Amino acid sequence: MAKVLCVLYDDPVDGYPTSYARDDIPAITSYPGGQRAPTPEGVDFTPGELLGSVSGALGLRDWLESAGHTLVVTSDKDREGSVFDQELADADVVISQPFWPAYLTAERIARAKNLKLVVTAGIGSDHTDLDAAVAHGLTVAEVTFSNSISVAEHVVMMILSLVRNYLPSHQWVRDGGWNIADCVARSYDLEGMHVGTVAAGRIGLAVLRRLAPFDVQLHYTDRHRLSADVERELGLTWHDSTEAMVPHCDVVTVNAPLHPETEGLFGDKLLSTMKRGTYLINTARAKIADRDAVDRALRDGRLAGYAGDVWYPQPPPADHPWRTMPHHGMTPHISGSSLSAQARYAAGTREILESFFAGRPLREEYLIVDKGALAGAGAHAYSVNT
Ligand code: NDP
Repeated sequence: MAKVLCVLYDDPVDGYPTSYARDDIPAITSYPGGQRAPTPEGVDFTPGELLGSVSGALGLRDWLESAGHTLVVTSDKDREGSVFDQELADADVVISQPFWPAYLTAERIARAKNLKLVVTAGIGSDHTDLDAAVAHGLTVAEVTFSNSISVAEHVVMMILSLVRNYLPSHQWVRDGGWNIADCVARSYDLEGMHVGTVAAGRIGLAVLRRLAPFDVQLHYTDRHRLSADVERELGLTWHDSTEAMVPHCDVVTVNAPLHPETEGLFGDKLLSTMKRGTYLINTARAKIADRDAVDRALRDGRLAGYAGDVWYPQPPPADHPWRTMPHHGMTPHISGSSLSAQARYAAGTREILESFFAGRPLREEYLIVDKGALAGAGAHAYSVNT
């Protein structure tokens, strides 16, 4: 019997919900391009429930415990002697979400003698040291595509809210004001602007598709070009590097994985090549942007706005400069954890565990590391040093 250690974010401060804003969520059975949504043998939750916090337990508790497995769920992950650190010693499986990542460093992996499987309930496994996972023969899997459209919707929301100056305008209303000039002094139309995405994978392409009806000029850079048909359909301009693309853009959205090539990409040097007043949206990973360079660029006007939901570390300290820098639209890491997305990645996590316990191969598209090497989606998105 296995010990499954699940690190999830805390329940709401006013308690685990007993009712919800909506009675149901749409049933999504496949994704753009045809990949099937998760197909577990069963689920023990109602889609639309809060599953990503401690009491939700990703809907896994009844199923795992009735099969004789041990499930430990905690949000306590970072402090010295955390529950995560204590329970890791004999855990067979670790599950966490990128929103509240259990940082599986090389040192922790070395201490976790029973560890065989690491599951990202969501997408993005950079919180696991993939070199160490390869070296220790672990399997690392994530629920590919489960929240890609959720993030794409969030990106579109953030672009519009920055360009149109939505958040400060909303604040004037909450504060009892009617200060139209204050609101519109930084408000523009998106129409006609040049919008570029760094990477046009699942999320990047979904962002491009959602923005096309806004009559903008669309740009992208990616290691591989999209088909000529897609480029024509969406009116895309391809650039062979981020450096070549960003000087043309009024809005830049980052949708690439974090790896050595993208870490620190948006630093002083690249930011200085962007048009004054560019909006930068990063829902990919915080470390793709240089924390202090972004702060400086907002203060000197190079950037007119920065928004995203990814931070380093997560949660960030109270004095993290991105909490207080001007003209930002940051949220906690939520774009991929809507109730709709949770239903899919909880079902995908169950599907991965069902295969693992039955000794069946995991779906190829869920694999990041397997049998001592990058595999599946991981071979496509990541690189390791071994
Ligand atoms: P995909 O794997 O579908 O797409 C990533 C794309 O990035 C690929 O086309 C890849 O190219 C390209 N790429 C990689 N490196 C570079 C580079 N240096 N320059 C340009 N393009 C590059 O991933 P998703 O679209 O599903 O997700 C992207 C990232 O978004 C994830 O890695 C994750 O970090 C983040 N994410 C954030 C979430 C959130 O909640 N905020 C939720 C889900 C994901 P190639 O095909 O050639 O490898």
